[in-house]
Amino acid sequence: MEPNQIEILDNPYLLLTPGPLSTSPGVRAAMLRDWCTWDAEYNDIVQVIRNRLTRLATPASGYTTVLMQGSGTFSVEACLGTVVPRHGKLLVLSNGHYGDRIAMIAKRLLIPFDVLDFGDTNPLDMEAVDKTLRVDRAISHMAVVHCETSTGMLNPVQDVGDLEIRHHRSLIVDAMSSFGGIPMDVNNLWVDYLISGPNKCLQGVPGFGFVVARQSQLEHCSGSARSLCLDLLDQWLEMENLAGKWRFTSPTHVVRAFAQALVELEAEGGVNARHARYVQNQTILSLGMRELGFETLLPDEYQSPIITAFLYPSHPGFEFARFYAELKRRGFVIYSGKVTRTNTFRIGNIGHVFPDDILALLQAVRESMYWA
Ligand SMILES: *Cc1c(COP(=O)(O)O)cnc(C)c1O
Repeated sequence: MEPNQIEILDNPYLLLTPGPLSTSPGVRAAMLRDWCTWDAEYNDIVQVIRNRLTRLATPASGYTTVLMQGSGTFSVEACLGTVVPRHGKLLVLSNGHYGDRIAMIAKRLLIPFDVLDFGDTNPLDMEAVDKTLRVDRAISHMAVVHCETSTGMLNPVQDVGDLEIRHHRSLIVDAMSSFGGIPMDVNNLWVDYLISGPNKCLQGVPGFGFVVARQSQLEHCSGSARSLCLDLLDQWLEMENLAGKWRFTSPTHVVRAFAQALVELEAEGGVNARHARYVQNQTILSLGMRELGFETLLPDEYQSPIITAFLYPSHPGFEFARFYAELKRRGFVIYSGKVTRTNTFRIGNIGHVFPDDILALLQAVRESMYWA
């Protein structure tokens, strides 16, 4: 059967799976036009987006934004592979899957690196970080994930940044799943490179990523890129010198939709208002799930307002695939777990998702508890 347009524009279920996640009808409608990747009309949109992202990251001057094709990880790889010099060394602070992925990229790109692995459910140990930095003078860069999406843990970038200024190392932050949904000022946090993407808290669709960079540092990364396509400096130079042009074909529809997503962020009241909605969503979710007998993986003090990991119920009749199918049938798609030692599933609460949606989800969960 040919899907008609109404069916295309109407989602049969909410994606509580950041990301991709549920977007607004406006964001999806913005994709219904074709654009030329090097025409000025389109390149102007790119420039507006770049400037807006820089402003979202900080009111301070000295930062710039570069967009990169691909999913979020492509931008993480582009950033690491471009900004850590051949004679540099990266220290990765990891407490989950996305921290481990940073180390995996460094390994693959032959970037000298060390990992401080704190374990999936533990916060960063700042004393251990401090000690490592004092002992290993070769470390030139540090990388940390802000919201570790695999568990929902929110890491204290401020504490890491405060260390960094004492030791003069560049700080790279994977804020893929938090930027736009949690207020932050990269300049105050001493962050030199912030990596994020359109399809998490900014509520766009996937297809590119971006890096907000301290320009004085990015400018000095010449000759370090380990890849042609993922050369962040080359891409930045092209966007700067040719006013919003990407080096290679860009995801035009995705970019146009993202411009609309940024307009809608502003209409909502900016990052503070969005953060308040996400906090409300997450609070309703965790309270409601606990009432139904579920336990969160993390204590509330480490929990982000983005995504929550729940332990599998101990009942022997519980089977995630069936629970997932029951919920999907009722209009909600949730996420499987990503913690190695514990069986969890995850529920995201970001996107075009509101407290009433979470209440409806809780009702659906209640109806889907076939084992209880
Ligand atoms: C989503 C996400 C990424 C990027 O994942 P992709 O699948 O490549 O888009 C990277 N880091 C974190 C913390 C994320 O949540």
